[in-house]
Amino acid sequence: MPVTRERGQRQVFCGLAGIVWLHRKMQDAFFLVVGSRTCAHLLQSAAGVMVFAEPRFATAILQDRDLAGLADCNEELDRVVTELLARRPDIGTLFLVASCPSEVIKLDLDTAAERLAASQQGRVQILAYSGSGLDTTFTQGEDTCLTALVPRMPELPAAERSLLVLGTLPDIVEDQFARLFAEIGIAPVHFLPPRKAAELPPVGPGTLLLAAQPFVGETAAALAKRGATLIEAPYPFGIEGSRAWFAAAAAAWGLPAERVEAAIAAPVARAERGLANYREQLAGKRISFLPDSQLEIPLGRFLSRECGMQLTEVGVPYLDRRMMAAELELLPAGLRLTEGQDLERQLDRLRQDRPDLTVCGLGLANPLEAEGLTTKWSIELVFSPVHGFDQAADLAELFARPLNRRQRLAF
Ligand code: SF4
Repeated sequence: MPVTRERGQRQVFCGLAGIVWLHRKMQDAFFLVVGSRTCAHLLQSAAGVMVFAEPRFATAILQDRDLAGLADCNEELDRVVTELLARRPDIGTLFLVASCPSEVIKLDLDTAAERLAASQQGRVQILAYSGSGLDTTFTQGEDTCLTALVPRMPELPAAERSLLVLGTLPDIVEDQFARLFAEIGIAPVHFLPPRKAAELPPVGPGTLLLAAQPFVGETAAALAKRGATLIEAPYPFGIEGSRAWFAAAAAAWGLPAERVEAAIAAPVARAERGLANYREQLAGKRISFLPDSQLEIPLGRFLSRECGMQLTEVGVPYLDRRMMAAELELLPAGLRLTEGQDLERQLDRLRQDRPDLTVCGLGLANPLEAEGLTTKWSIELVFSPVHGFDQAADLAELFARPLNRRQRLAF
């Protein structure tokens, strides 16, 4: 598959956005961003709904004196963390999240995390990772967060084996997947991230690793260093992707394909019925993906093969061939696949193509709508339960909805 590489101005969110879904998943975790007022604003607007709940994230704001090197940021950070932990005894794991400003002034949060964990005498697990947007896209925030967890995972006993599903899944999807793995005969199955950051799953040479999200390549590499073996599979989006994902796990576990087919028969039938309606609405429509979430390739594959859409262009922030190998084989021949972004050139192509639907970041959606293009926010595809058979129709609906809206508004 030929890939066009582009370098230039990019229009993506930073990794702090990952906090929005990570804090929902790991119920005992607190995320303290060490950043500027811009970072605080991003978090508050991206995760604004949380103002109605007890928040599990905050920003320790670096002031001008910190940024100019006139104050000792470490002293200030120690004070903020000590106060926070005294006020919130429910915090089991504290993530110190680096941002662009903290990285620019080279604030060493790894060392700070070690120092603070020692001062808490093991009462709280304290870890650091980077959510900075200097050179990354927004889903990489999850990858850096999970990579930080890997050294803390306990060792899987030598004679044992287990399946480890990698990448955040909404609890409802995790439960469905756990049930299907049990029916197929695969056990034990663990998930990373877990629902409690303090209860990390084990890893070792007996671990088979199955990625549920395509943007966790660094975590997969860190787990491989601890002995885990990555199973090559498409991602569980749509019927085809989900079937192939379970089949790859079963084959790696040494189980026959019939076991999988028997376990998934009912969910597949439900998904077929649910998808039929949306297939009618989506077939023949042209769609472009701007590089943003790393989900572009598997979602493009689902929309073209199961919903009959035409892929005008699929852009990815970066192409991780190891994580995408099975997906690349399923893409239609002749696809215009781009890696990286040169924003103006990409927008020129988009204006020329004028697809029926454009999947892009929040910052581009409104200006493109004003130009008469119909858009879908890519970040919504990361928040929503879209994996697996029972969510296949919901996934298709997320793309049909903006097309319907445009049609209804047309006069
Ligand atoms: S981490 Fe960087 S890109 Fe993200 S909000 Fe803060 S300054 Fe902006």
